[in-house]
Amino acid sequence: MELQQLVDRIASEVTPGGSAADYIPALARIDPHTFGLAVATLDGEVFGAGRYERPFSIQSISKAFTLALALAENDDVWTRVGREPSGSPFNSLVQLETEQGIPRNPFINAGAVVVTDHLGLGAADRLLEFLRQESGNPSLDVDPEVAESELDHSDRNHALAHFMASYGNMRNPVDVVVREYVRQCSIAMSCADLARATLFLARHGVRNDGTRLLGVSGAKRVNAVMLTCGTYDAAGQFAYRVGLPGKSGVGGGIIAVVPGKCAICVWSPGLDARGNSVAGVDALDRFTTLTGWSVF
Ligand code: GLN
Repeated sequence: MELQQLVDRIASEVTPGGSAADYIPALARIDPHTFGLAVATLDGEVFGAGRYERPFSIQSISKAFTLALALAENDDVWTRVGREPSGSPFNSLVQLETEQGIPRNPFINAGAVVVTDHLGLGAADRLLEFLRQESGNPSLDVDPEVAESELDHSDRNHALAHFMASYGNMRNPVDVVVREYVRQCSIAMSCADLARATLFLARHGVRNDGTRLLGVSGAKRVNAVMLTCGTYDAAGQFAYRVGLPGKSGVGGGIIAVVPGKCAICVWSPGLDARGNSVAGVDALDRFTTLTGWSVF
């Protein structure tokens, strides 16, 4: 089946469900039944269906890109964050105390805050610049309304950061780091933008301009952590159903990587109890089932 027919078929078959995240009030206003799907092939061509050109809040999808940017410098970040699945909700505090302020992985909030701190001041602007270049969309930006709304409701992320600071695992002031983290999560992008921006992970580290962000091993590692930790305490279920590295966000987006073939982004704001898009996981399950394109 042609990719365009395939994305159209999936868009017509999925039934969006669940409800939009409401702990960030600006996200609660979005219709949970909206659906968009984009597949970008290695040459940058995009096949889309539904609202695939409408920007949405990338939220935790940003964590896959910040990890890649940190690893592009060196491996030092691994002294400050682990790479094991947490089996706990994305915003959980419980493991941090027994594990002395070292978060389980870079994709739960605590771990992502450490990665942002590691990238240092201006992390969100660096990320934005990278995403503009990879998506080919120079107008990408932070959605100021979402950023303000999240910052007004970020007690939990401040608590995580302060807790890690008490163990010496924070280099910059907590307020500054949480503000950077909230800005990176509040970047607005469409499925088409995100699918293109994810292609470097499908190309084993090679960016859209032909230069390398990561070596082959670096890209393998980011993809591996996405597979094992990218959907939090549902990572086992996601691997079982979809069989691809993926990273979700509470804005309802999920990116997924088929190494050597394509990058996918699906968006539907209705979430399940673990914070993953209901129709998004369903669409990716259908995609790998219909194409046989999985890492397994
Ligand atoms: N910005 C959100 C938060 O920190 C990201 C969470 C998510 O997308 N899972 O709570």
